[in-house]
This record gives sequence, C-alpha cells and structure tokens, in this order.
Amino acid sequence: MAEKTFPLTYARLKEVVRKYPTPFHIYDEHAIRQNIRALQQAFAWAPWFREQFAVKALPNPRIVQILHEEGAGTDCSSLAELYISEASGVKGTEILLTSNDTPADEFQKAIELGAIINLDDLSHLDFLEQNAGLPEVLCFRYNPGNLIAGNDIIGKPTEAKYGLPEDQLFEAYRRAKEKGVKRFGLHTMVASNERRVEAFALTAKLVFTLAVELKKRFGIHVEFVNLGGGIGIPYRPEENPVDLPAVGEAIHRLYDKIMVPEGLGDVGLMTESGRAMTGPAGWLVSTVIHEKKTYKDYIGLDSCMANLMRPAMYGAYHHITIAGKENEPCDHIYDVTGSLCENNDKFAIDRQLPKIDIGDLLIIHDTGAHGSAMGFNYNGKLWCAELLLHEDGSIELIRRAQTLDDYFATLRYDGSVMHPLGK
Ligand SMILES: *Cc1c(COP(=O)(O)O)cnc(C)c1O
Repeated sequence: MAEKTFPLTYARLKEVVRKYPTPFHIYDEHAIRQNIRALQQAFAWAPWFREQFAVKALPNPRIVQILHEEGAGTDCSSLAELYISEASGVKGTEILLTSNDTPADEFQKAIELGAIINLDDLSHLDFLEQNAGLPEVLCFRYNPGNLIAGNDIIGKPTEAKYGLPEDQLFEAYRRAKEKGVKRFGLHTMVASNERRVEAFALTAKLVFTLAVELKKRFGIHVEFVNLGGGIGIPYRPEENPVDLPAVGEAIHRLYDKIMVPEGLGDVGLMTESGRAMTGPAGWLVSTVIHEKKTYKDYIGLDSCMANLMRPAMYGAYHHITIAGKENEPCDHIYDVTGSLCENNDKFAIDRQLPKIDIGDLLIIHDTGAHGSAMGFNYNGKLWCAELLLHEDGSIELIRRAQTLDDYFATLRYDGSVMHPLGK
C-alpha cells in the first residue's frame, strides 16, 4: 500500500495559492533527499555506487543541485540537460551523456565538460571521434533483444531503437580499444516504471555476464556497470513501492557470484533513476474552474495536459485528492479535464471522488517526474510554475510560469511585423 499524502496543510496551501496562483507543480525537498538516500542504502555494499539522476525526469537546476548535494551525478540526453548539469555544479565524469541519434553539438559539449559518453551504436564511435573527439571514459548501451520481455512504456527490446545487440557490442568495445580509449563502462536500460525485484536482478545478471565476457575477450576491465533507470513507483494507492533493499541484495548476490570470481570485484555500480527520485515528491495543484453535467459529470481545471501529459499519453493513473476534503466519502464519479482542445485531455476518467465545488483546490499526485518535464505548447497552452518546498517549510519559486511573451518570443525576429503583443 502507498499512502497518498500532500506535504502542506489546507490552511498553508491556501496561503501559498494567494502568493503563487494555480496551476503549479510543487516539489518536496525532504522527500527527494529521502528517495536518493534509500537508493544509495540499497547499494551501500558495492565498491562504489552513484545515482546518475535522469535529468529529463525533472530538468530544473535547483532539483539537480539538491540531488548533487546528496552525491548524485546526472544522466543527460540533450544539450539543454548538459547545460543544466553544468549550472547545477555537476562536473566531469559525474555527467553521463546517454546518446541516441545524437547531433554533433551535444557530443562536443559533453567532451568539453569531460562527461562520460554512452554510445548507442557502433557507427556512432566514428561520428563521435570525427565531430568531437573521444572521451576519457566511454561506455556502450546493451540491447538484450528477446532475453527481456519489456512493457507498455519502454516496449520490447527487439522493437526498441536503443542499444547494441551482443555481437555488435563486442565489436564496438574492440574498436574503441583499438582507437585508444582506455577507460570503459557498460550500460543497459530495459525497464520502465518496473516494480518487480526479479526484473532488476535479470538486468544485472545480463550485464554482469557481459562485463565478464569483455574482460575475457578483450582484456577490458570496465570501471562501472550502469543498470539504467526504470525504477517504478506506486501511482495507485493499492500498489506497493519497489522493495529497494531486496533489489540491492539480489544484485549483491549476483555480483558476488558473477563478477567477484572473475577479478571484477572493484567494479562500481550506477543507476540513472528519474521517476523514483522525484516522482512521488511532486504534485500538480490546480483550481476547479468549471463543472459541467452532460452525458457525464465533468470537472474542469485551470491546468491541462500540457502541464501533465502522462494520463493522456499512456492512460496513466495519477491519484487525485481535494484539499480539505481528504476525509470525505468518495461518492461522486467525475471525469477531470483540462482546457486543451483534445478529447484525451483528461486527468482522470470515471474517478470516484468527494463532491467537488468550483474553487476547490485539486491535487494530482506523483507529478514530480515526467510531469512538468513533458510540458508542451500545443494549443498555445503555457507551462505552469514550479515551487520547491524546503526542509524548513519555506517555499521557493524555482520556475516561473511561462507568459504569452515567452510563447510569442520566436515571432520576434529580424523584420517581423506580426508579433501578436506588438513590439
Ligand atoms: C528516461 C531514461 C531514464 C530514467 O527513467 P526513469 O523511468 O525515470 O527512471 C534513465 N536512463 C535513460 C537512458 C532514459 O532514457
């Protein structure tokens, strides 16, 4: 069971809303720190362990800074995310660029920062060398093909655009070594929102076995194995969180069995978790602005799928509570909608909730990862603000809401005469 809580009292929330109008995402610093500490605890047995926070989950420098204070590095997959890492004080090989179909400027920035580069194909090795040079530390992303089943979010490995099959992977390491690269890691990422211990153990078993093979075939002693992200969270109250201590123990057993006897007992471990670090530590707060009764009862919010796309994109469940009505019976059935002109702009369909009134503050849970981050401007809908609740109870605005002026900014170019807000 996962208890769905919110870190502010109703009275405090009303105060906050007076200062920062809805909609906004609010993140809980304390919860984020607890989440990374629990992950580090599960891998405390390893020679060394580092969480490379997947910046795409919550690309805000203040959040990355907090995780960095806890010892995290970053996992980036765009130029912007590399700049966010730099701005947050993350340095050199604490940064990992997980590339796929990556343009030259991203490789160049990663090389400039001294980041570890994680390549997605053998052909990218030459591309990287020609366009940016080779990094100090290189790794390749393994795609295990039909050895792993996959799920709805990440799909089947055989259908996935990511990573190299085993034979190509060996060839890639051989070629990289030939080109003079001396320091290596090994990467895979095959899970998404996964909560089963066995799934993480299977991934570890596959990559540990490969690490041994790399040593045997080419004398390549990898410095780390990166198990990727994909650690799930219980979006539904009846679901259980991942048993991280059990994941850590299962991987520890495999490490002792597969790696240690082959002289690989000094290899460090990495994860690149996004969702499990910040997901449950974020909430989207909106005001109810309309109620409409037609074939169904609709509750209309001042936010929309541009602020949280997961329900529309994956049919994902996000728990909803009404501030101040936490203990009232859920005896009404509503569709909770946003204002975007798409019928899938619904945060919930046929959801049992307490009676909702216009003006109520509606809280959507678990929006701290892949929430605001997936924001977009379709239909001219704007990004909302992001707030950070500090451990001392104070609140910091860490991203202001986008304005029409921001939205129209790209219409202001040389010779432009059609700017909707005038000059
Ligand atoms: C998206 C992504 C992650 C983070 O996934 P979570 O499900 O948020 O843990 C990590 N690594 C890579 C390469 C990714 O694309």
